Amino acid sequence: MKNAHKLLTEMKYDVGSVDKGYTNRTLYINLSENKIESKPVTEEVKEKFIGGRGFGLYYLWNAVNENTKWNDPENEVIISSGPIGGITQYPGTGKSLVVSLSPLTGVPIDSNVGGYFGPYLKFSGWDALELQGKAEKDVIIYIDGDNGRISIEEAPLEETDSHLIAEHLTEMYSDSDYGKRNISVVSAGKGAENSHVGLLNFSFWDLKRKALRIKQAGRGGIGTVFRDKKVKAIVVKYSNTKGDSNKPADRNKVVELGIKLHKEIHDLDDKQNRMRKTGTAYLTEIMNDYDLLPTNNFKFGSHPDAHKISSKEFSKWFQLSGSDGCWFGCTLACCKVVPDFEVLTGPYKGQKVVVDGPEYETVAAVGSNCGIFDSQYVLESNFYCDTYGVDTISVGNITGFCMDCYEEGILDKEKTGGLELTFGNKDAALELLHQMARGEGFGKIAGLGVRKLKALFVKEYGADAEFLDDIGMENKGLEYSMYMPKESLAQQGGYALTNKGPQHDEAWLIFMDMVNNQIPTFEDKAEALFYFPIFRTWFGLVGLCKLPWNDVVPADNHTRENAQNVPEHQENYVQMFTAITGRKMENADLINQSAPVYHFQRVFNFRMGYGSRENDSAPTRSIGPATLEEYLSREERYDKQLKEIVGIDPTEMKAEDKFQAMRKFRRDQYNQLCDSVYARRGWTKNAVPTLETLKQWGIDFTEVVDVVKKHL
Ligand code: SF4
Repeated sequence: MKNAHKLLTEMKYDVGSVDKGYTNRTLYINLSENKIESKPVTEEVKEKFIGGRGFGLYYLWNAVNENTKWNDPENEVIISSGPIGGITQYPGTGKSLVVSLSPLTGVPIDSNVGGYFGPYLKFSGWDALELQGKAEKDVIIYIDGDNGRISIEEAPLEETDSHLIAEHLTEMYSDSDYGKRNISVVSAGKGAENSHVGLLNFSFWDLKRKALRIKQAGRGGIGTVFRDKKVKAIVVKYSNTKGDSNKPADRNKVVELGIKLHKEIHDLDDKQNRMRKTGTAYLTEIMNDYDLLPTNNFKFGSHPDAHKISSKEFSKWFQLSGSDGCWFGCTLACCKVVPDFEVLTGPYKGQKVVVDGPEYETVAAVGSNCGIFDSQYVLESNFYCDTYGVDTISVGNITGFCMDCYEEGILDKEKTGGLELTFGNKDAALELLHQMARGEGFGKIAGLGVRKLKALFVKEYGADAEFLDDIGMENKGLEYSMYMPKESLAQQGGYALTNKGPQHDEAWLIFMDMVNNQIPTFEDKAEALFYFPIFRTWFGLVGLCKLPWNDVVPADNHTRENAQNVPEHQENYVQMFTAITGRKMENADLINQSAPVYHFQRVFNFRMGYGSRENDSAPTRSIGPATLEEYLSREERYDKQLKEIVGIDPTEMKAEDKFQAMRKFRRDQYNQLCDSVYARRGWTKNAVPTLETLKQWGIDFTEVVDVVKKHL
């Protein structure tokens, strides 16, 4: 296979050394021109954009203009780790942040992912990789961080599906079996090629299990952009990873902070969320218990069969004897694995494969949201989504939406090419997934995502546009992640008032809001929707995983003021940043560092023609009952709310009238929330950051101000 590679171009370079978390240069590759260049990173860029997602947004801004579309050669895929990324003494420090213009939304998407690529890229000499242009034929990019050489090679023979190509390339570029741990591969798959919901897989070699593992930068179709550029894979090789490869300013402090958190995980994880045993799958039963588990396209929040896809069920499949950290030193080790899974359908039928996960989001998306409660099916779907390179969250939403439309009579067997897309039909769900990956049949249009499907069903099948807007779970074109926000106004905003679209990594407020009632007023919710999206942005700037922040907490956390912020962990982060970079940092700087990037991203949306209040609108099903059936399924609860909160006595009212009254009330509440949040964020009523806000956060650059002025 390697003999068939044709070298298109190469660049030799001095690998150099990391200095306090940075290499101070980025790697720019233009695939149209076969150009490879080193670019300096200035102190100003480090100061303002920090790294990771910040670097991604900054370089993307410079690469595109207001007319650029996702599939124009100017669009970039940018991968960056961040200054903390790559240390081995503290849990959760191996994340890469990927940024691109999304095929689903038309605005920047950012997605974070584990695996070894980001740290190895940095140790190989690069704070970020900018990929621009389009190759003529399928290529592989090889970054040899051991010898300081980068090449672009035509690679005609490799399969594109990730479990194959990542393994082939790991084998091809490693010197020995042990050396496989020094290779990381970024790949997509045929599904990324044939749909708009493509993801990127980042690999690492699991030394104990002798198995190739892949983690996903899942959201927003980044894998689709990658394959559109005709990149089959990027391989990085770096063999000298050491405890001080990130060259921190104060290594002893880093070690001290790491020991503290490792001990906490060791002592408390089993009593708290059991991440080391079940990964995020523990959330399934909790969400089901609180009526928050998306079921049948977000119609309902629980199901009597949910136990069949609970963490208890998946624990029977997991093999816990190996290493489940997605980077060295993560003792929270949540990346569970089913190493000898026998595939029952599709092109790999009969083969034994490695399934990474499933994570909670996948279980809920392809499982309960499609009305399917079968662990074998969830694993099968998880494997295929990953190897095809498609996002489980989007696929689960698309399938659930199509099943809903089928049951509503908008779709039928003739329109789906024979697929009987009823809730619970796992065979039809899997066949739809295979079709999406092949770009064939009904799957070809399904792979365009919920927003485009809604428009198509209206145009081609005469469906009611308002009804589809009610039940189609997307905002800005991105499908919803897997928490039912109907009964939490704050979470409704946490999803729809995001920059990239409804992904819970910006704000996860359901428990604070709905369960613990900690943020009862509009002002409280607005404060939370100011603070958390901005604070959570910080993780993506520095290369950290969020899970060790609040999936394990100190034993005395509940005694601290603002316990929901996990103050001790925040204090650790502040000290960690200083220990790595040598830059002084106070607690308030967590916000001071990320607010400029957050507001910059909103302005970026405006620059691309989106960003305003109408783009923050939420589907009815995310803010309350979208159908009479849903109202009646919780009639007692909604009647009580009408009486006690809305001030309407429902006793003599017809069900339809009660449903309409609740619908109107919820919509009004959501609009009031938007006003409060925009005011707190320093945006106009149309969601435009004001000139004062740009100045306050130091992003009043001429180009940014010019974009904003057009919308004031
Ligand atoms: S907590 Fe899980 S996802 Fe986060 S870094 Fe550790 S292993 Fe990776």
